[in-house]
Amino acid sequence: MSTISKKICLFGDFGVGKTSLIRQFVESQFSDEYLSTVGVKISRKLISFSKKDLYFEKDLQLLIWDIEGSNKFKTVAPNYFQGSKGAVIVGDVTQPETLNHLQEHIQTFLAVNPKSYIVVALNKSDMIASEYLEKIRQKYQFSNQINILDTYITSAKTGNNVDEMFQTLATHLI
Ligand code: GDP
Ligand code: MG
Repeated sequence: MSTISKKICLFGDFGVGKTSLIRQFVESQFSDEYLSTVGVKISRKLISFSKKDLYFEKDLQLLIWDIEGSNKFKTVAPNYFQGSKGAVIVGDVTQPETLNHLQEHIQTFLAVNPKSYIVVALNKSDMIASEYLEKIRQKYQFSNQINILDTYITSAKTGNNVDEMFQTLATHLI
């Protein structure tokens, strides 16, 4: 059995839940306290693929890059994205302007990594009535863009769709 490492990035507006999604995925924890990310934090998560997923067994170590949200972001983004095989682009369903920025974030990422895969997280779904969520998801499908695997309605608080989303991305990295 061999282990390979792949870098992925979380990207999106300030406060949409990037750090919380990583924490839920890596540690199965959530906090309502807002702790702004300082600089870049890299988390690791080992993902095992069984024979049913692949022709051979392989472990994947995801190196998950989380960057502080700030308005200086634009200038650091290209360096931050370098060498990334995938990205989770995150918006907040309670803040519509963060959803309107998703397309711009996707383009910023693809400008550095044109062959990488992307999943979109529409986060904080626990705060919105479910009848609205499917409409929002359909609006932000980006299905005409081949790099974009899927759009997920997520909650870093309840864990809804968090594992599924990272798993989909991970599957495309090996
Ligand atoms: P970041 O700036 O994108 O890293 O955002 P954070 O992960 O720091 O989250 C910003 C705030 O939103 C924090 O107070 C979190 O507790 C809260 N938050 C993040 N994700 C969710 C979620 O899915 N549901 C709810 N209700 N709150 C969330
Ligand atoms: Mg953060």
